[in-house]
Amino acid sequence: LSLTALATAAALSLTACGDDGDDSGGDAAKGKVGVILPDTASSARWENFDRPYLEQAFKTAGVESDIQNAEGSAQRFQTIADQMLTSGVTVLLVTGLDSNSAAAVQRKAQAQGVKTIDYDRLTLGGVADYYVSFNNVKVGEEMGTGLQKCLGDKGANIVYLNGAPSDNNATLFARGAHNVLDKVSAYKKVAEQPVPDWEAEKAATLFEQMWTEQHGKIDGVLAANDNLANAVISILKKNQRAGKVPVTGQDATVQGLQNILDGTQCMSVHKPTKQEADAAVKLAVALIKGEKGATTATEHDPVGKRDVPSVLLSPVGITKENIKRVIDDGAVKTADLCKGA
Ligand code: BGC
Repeated sequence: LSLTALATAAALSLTACGDDGDDSGGDAAKGKVGVILPDTASSARWENFDRPYLEQAFKTAGVESDIQNAEGSAQRFQTIADQMLTSGVTVLLVTGLDSNSAAAVQRKAQAQGVKTIDYDRLTLGGVADYYVSFNNVKVGEEMGTGLQKCLGDKGANIVYLNGAPSDNNATLFARGAHNVLDKVSAYKKVAEQPVPDWEAEKAATLFEQMWTEQHGKIDGVLAANDNLANAVISILKKNQRAGKVPVTGQDATVQGLQNILDGTQCMSVHKPTKQEADAAVKLAVALIKGEKGATTATEHDPVGKRDVPSVLLSPVGITKENIKRVIDDGAVKTADLCKGA
């Protein structure tokens, strides 16, 4: 027996006994997965983290994929979905802009025998087979704990800039933040607003209004992601208060991390996107193969009144002290953080 023959035999027998649960590889997965990401403006994560990690995971799994971005338009979201369905995708992985438009796309897919997975955001009233995300109440709790650390327990007026009301995650983040901050009796919530579409410009306008109404008596800002945080920081800068008023964030984007290093942002939440992308691709592969995917939790959909089989990962609160964690995870490089900082 030659060495090559031996190696081949070993490989064959390994395949025959099934692999170690890492079923993302192998050539049995014949199918094509369409991915629709929501936008580019609400967070740098979608194009900078999710897209490359998803591309990589599909490549490793040997599965063809088509990853597109709806650019914030529900209509474009629908058009992309239609094109994908026509092109013969077997699974759709979607991050909806709002539950209604995403649910409509999922129903259409279902009618054509195409399975769907909710990626990061749960589509309320949708029909997705699986949901992959982080524990989003925990994400909000990390923000609350981070803000509390930056503020201390002395009296403080707090304002909230929550995420888009059309995004179920925004509700969960706010719930988590309140779980922590409402328990500190010295804190007073003086304003709370959702930011439509998670848009920075809208966040800046809303925060400036709050600042005026409160005569600048704002001591801490719960901003639901780095994009909103950066908008708040721009207004604080205009008022010579940046770095004095702690602001939270989320996504551990380059911008957010630079603000943390500058001292203008109190914290961010790192959600290891590689884990999320890998988990989603694994479930997509299971659906292609007609197998039951491995899930670890369920998420309740209060509109559809059902429990969706889910994979829910753990977020990590990031401050100056543990910023290295994000770099070690490979999401951003040290050089990115130095650029223009
Ligand atoms: C995601 C966040 C992101 C936000 C805006 C949420 O659904 O979980 O990571 O910052 O959308 O895109």
